[in-house]
Amino acid sequence: MKTSKIIIYDEPTVQEIQITKIEKFVKKYFPVEIEIRKNFFQNNQHEIFEEIASTRIFDLKKPFSKHIPTNSEIQMEKENIDNSQNEEKILYDGFEFQKVLSKFIPKNELDLDTLNIILTNKLTCTFDESDFRYHARVLIGTNPSIISTTGFIEAPARPREYYIELMTDFSKKNTNKIKEKYKGEFLDYHDSRISKILEGYILQSIMYYETGNDFCEDKECRLYNAHWQKELLNSQLNNKFCEKHEEIFKKIIDQ
Ligand SMILES: [Zn+2]
Repeated sequence: MKTSKIIIYDEPTVQEIQITKIEKFVKKYFPVEIEIRKNFFQNNQHEIFEEIASTRIFDLKKPFSKHIPTNSEIQMEKENIDNSQNEEKILYDGFEFQKVLSKFIPKNELDLDTLNIILTNKLTCTFDESDFRYHARVLIGTNPSIISTTGFIEAPARPREYYIELMTDFSKKNTNKIKEKYKGEFLDYHDSRISKILEGYILQSIMYYETGNDFCEDKECRLYNAHWQKELLNSQLNNKFCEKHEEIFKKIIDQ
């Protein structure tokens, strides 16, 4: 393996994340040193908040252009570190966000054999040239790897019927009623399964860093790139890998 150490930055505002369990899970697959840190943004330099705010996106149909943040936007970034109620949707350009965070990682920890994985509740998006718009995205690969837990909920689509029923009535009462009806078919905030799903995405980020290969095509594999909530739950909760990836795991570990 080219990685000898993995540093995982926790997201303490997402209380469902069972970080010790995750650490054990990764150790089961990879013989590497793992260090868990509290939160990437806590105790970081003041400048980071301004830079993060500059990666915000406001128009889903326009490619990224750097945003000049107001003082209150910068302040909000700071306050949001401890804000577990933060469900106001702020969107960030995932690649720009990743670039910013990489600047604030200590130089000696950004070498080839240390992989940094940063968990965040911020919603990262990437601009897709094929339909010329932004889409929410869970994982921004390489080093550091960013995993958006909000992305679990917002990136893969819910059942079509859910949206159709919602279209008739957007009131809060109706939204809650429909959410209740389809409960279990998609993830929502504070779902206890978030931690389990996170395990799969941490493996994906390690595999991507190690092999340079993106996701798996097999819907039953934990490395599958789910477009629908149903696929996400199915691939992650079954806890299986395809034969190809079982093999690759063995090879990586032996190297
Ligand atoms: Zn696979």
